[in-house]
Amino acid sequence: MYMKTSKERANVVCEVKGMVKEQKMHAGAGFLNTLKASTPLRPFLFALSTRKPRTRKGKTNPFPTIFSLPNELIAEVLARVAAISVSDLFNVVLSCKVFHRIAGDDYILRHVSLEKFPVIPWGSTEQAFFLDKCKRSGHPEALYREGVIGYFSFGKVEEGLNCLNNAAKAGHLGASYVLGVILLCVEETEEEGRQLFNHVKAERGIRESRKKLKDIVSVTWRKMVLKPKSNSCPMQEQHRRRGGWPDDSDDEVDCEACGCHLEIIFVCSLLRGIITY
Ligand SMILES: [Zn+2]
Repeated sequence: MYMKTSKERANVVCEVKGMVKEQKMHAGAGFLNTLKASTPLRPFLFALSTRKPRTRKGKTNPFPTIFSLPNELIAEVLARVAAISVSDLFNVVLSCKVFHRIAGDDYILRHVSLEKFPVIPWGSTEQAFFLDKCKRSGHPEALYREGVIGYFSFGKVEEGLNCLNNAAKAGHLGASYVLGVILLCVEETEEEGRQLFNHVKAERGIRESRKKLKDIVSVTWRKMVLKPKSNSCPMQEQHRRRGGWPDDSDDEVDCEACGCHLEIIFVCSLLRGIITY
């Protein structure tokens, strides 16, 4: 555009400013129209926005936050965090007093993932203290570890069996497996042991239970060993010849008696250090 005088240039500038102003007004109207058409934010989502609500002194915040949720719901959230990562739980607990207070609930402790926790926390009183808290809360894995170590490493028969029994009642298959094998080795409790073994087998937990026991036995000492009973199956030779003895399978042995005997031999061999894989 070519302009001859300053007056003409000023007129053009005024026209351009007017056009820009008009466009902004249209744009603003469009934005408002869009906002009206959209679904309004729920109060909870609004509270998560970066804009802080204005409150006066002495008045409660009208917008709900995570702290306005019931403690049971916060505990459920923390329990899910704990089940995924104990490190994340510790970080959340350190973030505020409310989380720190609620995190001491037994419900949360029972759900803590102990996957990365050492079987025996050598030299760490904090870890030992935390594991003890988990055990007292009824944590199945903590009870299982306590039961195996108590029974086989320290010879605390009654205490070890109690821990394994409580863990098994809480649904820990590894505890049912170990307890079942122990009971199978005793004449009077053979039937209970068989029931536990069948339960683990039905849940297809034989392989995992073997691995869990091996992981503990490989890093602990053994004071107690089990005396294997002879196989009561009159057809054991045929069963052995037909299928062989599987090393790491859940369901290849159909015969109940032969299956129980196989697990007894496995655990006894593991405790004597014969099996180290
Ligand atoms: Zn058999």
